[in-house]
Amino acid sequence: MAVHDGLRPASAVVRALAAEVSRRSEGVAARWPDGVPDLLAAKTRLAAGVTALEGEPLLDGAELLRGGRALAAAVEAVEPAVGQTMLAIVERLEGLDEHSLNELARAALAGAWEPCASLASILGLDEYALVSVVDYAARPALVAAARRVEHLLTSYDRASSHCPVCGSSPLLAELSGKEAARSLRCGRCGARWRYPRLACAWCGERDHHALSALHGEGEAGVRQADCCSTCHGYLKAVSVLDPLDYVSLLKTDIETAGLDLVAVDRGYARGTGQRA
Ligand SMILES: [Zn+2]
Ligand SMILES: [Zn+2]
Repeated sequence: MAVHDGLRPASAVVRALAAEVSRRSEGVAARWPDGVPDLLAAKTRLAAGVTALEGEPLLDGAELLRGGRALAAAVEAVEPAVGQTMLAIVERLEGLDEHSLNELARAALAGAWEPCASLASILGLDEYALVSVVDYAARPALVAAARRVEHLLTSYDRASSHCPVCGSSPLLAELSGKEAARSLRCGRCGARWRYPRLACAWCGERDHHALSALHGEGEAGVRQADCCSTCHGYLKAVSVLDPLDYVSLLKTDIETAGLDLVAVDRGYARGTGQRA
């Protein structure tokens, strides 16, 4: 199975995962106690340059496993082999003690994948497959929490190259309005934040000599890959009338895979992995 970074999965799998993440996000939020997430604390964190959801108890180990099972079942319906691989991983995780599972849930929320590396070797699992399952299993909580704090982002203007809500790298940029204002979208929690149109989303480069766009004929400003020769990063941008919902966001990323091929072929990489 190859659902994580770089190893692009089949579109049917991603669609099934995105739909299930979106569906489960409602139920996850309904189980949070009052005051989770703490909106006042989230606002303070954002003002201090910290991710809005840092430290919020959005997910425990039991919920992580429930999410993993539900996602595996959703994927099994469209790609049985992939779904069964996911389920086998969830079943291995079910053998862990409560403390370890809660730690894993915390790491998954933060997008800290080091614990998965050691866990993969202990359990004899493929690291990327384990990260993929744990990543998606944590997403319903992240998506639900991002919805709760999204109103705090309307005045957010830090030009952050990482999601101000959960800390992930942006998946895509959206261009909207007459001036094609750019917003970045997080693929994990779905958050949307403004980012200058003419600056590299990864390193902040603003010199127009270093910035270029790759696109098909007649597709400039509609579907393009914005590239930076300073950090050799690229980010795809699509024009939208309204912000994409979570399923459309992940679907659009898959549908524009041709741009990834062209950008990678020209020596650009999706992101630099460096935090601004
Ligand atoms: Zn995010
Ligand atoms: Zn750059």
